[in-house]
Amino acid sequence: MIEIYKKLPKTNCGECGDTTCTAFALKVMNACRKIQECPYVVATEDSNLVINKAIATMEDNYSRVSNELEDEAKRLNFKEASDAIGGRYELKNEEEKIALKMLNKPYEMRRKGLYEDGIYCLDSWSKIIIYDYIRRKGSRPLTGEWVTLGYFPNTASHVKAFQRNAEEKIAAKFNNNKEGLLNRCKELGGVSWQGKMNADYINKFDLLPKIPLYLCFWDADDEFQASCKLFLDSSAEDYIDIEYLAYLVERFVEIFVQ
Ligand code: SF4
Repeated sequence: MIEIYKKLPKTNCGECGDTTCTAFALKVMNACRKIQECPYVVATEDSNLVINKAIATMEDNYSRVSNELEDEAKRLNFKEASDAIGGRYELKNEEEKIALKMLNKPYEMRRKGLYEDGIYCLDSWSKIIIYDYIRRKGSRPLTGEWVTLGYFPNTASHVKAFQRNAEEKIAAKFNNNKEGLLNRCKELGGVSWQGKMNADYINKFDLLPKIPLYLCFWDADDEFQASCKLFLDSSAEDYIDIEYLAYLVERFVEIFVQ
């Protein structure tokens, strides 16, 4: 952690969403943040070395966590878990499966682990998120209460970064581009939605079967640029760890603006 901290400017400017560089360095060490999320990390040979070390540590951590969660998820009662999380249970040739979609992509949970297109999934993050989702067997019905990420406990450090890296990114990408926005929503399985917000467009996406995300978009006008807000149902915390939820939303945005 000290090695990571030494490479930061130590100004505690808060732009990464953490209030201090120490807090940020600690999260990098624990694989909750990426060192590149500090906009002031300068890419020198030396800092690349630290970044590479940090990435290696992060990947080791992801892989360890994913193996632990996999062991737990494999031992579950698949039928019961599938019913709870909105998956599709299948039993064929004595092989049990839970089929589900994450970010509009199909996956299968089998007794041997997570599969994507019939091949064992090698992406630790996809595995962590889906295993956590399955093992929690969240059972709370949707509350219909739309909340932003900052509503959930311990998300204060994500709020600023979330606005900048997610909502503002979508608004900038589709500013004055209504057709592009609507096409992108359609491509990613979005469904036009009526909602609590008085937005020009609202689309609902299923991050996971029981974790909807509502994208609200206000067109640019003579006075203002376009703006975007992302909402989740307040039941989401019953279905997934909040750090993983934040990552899932970030990933959604990355795909959305590609
Ligand atoms: S962005 Fe975060 S890590 Fe980077 S200098 Fe500011 S507080 Fe420190």
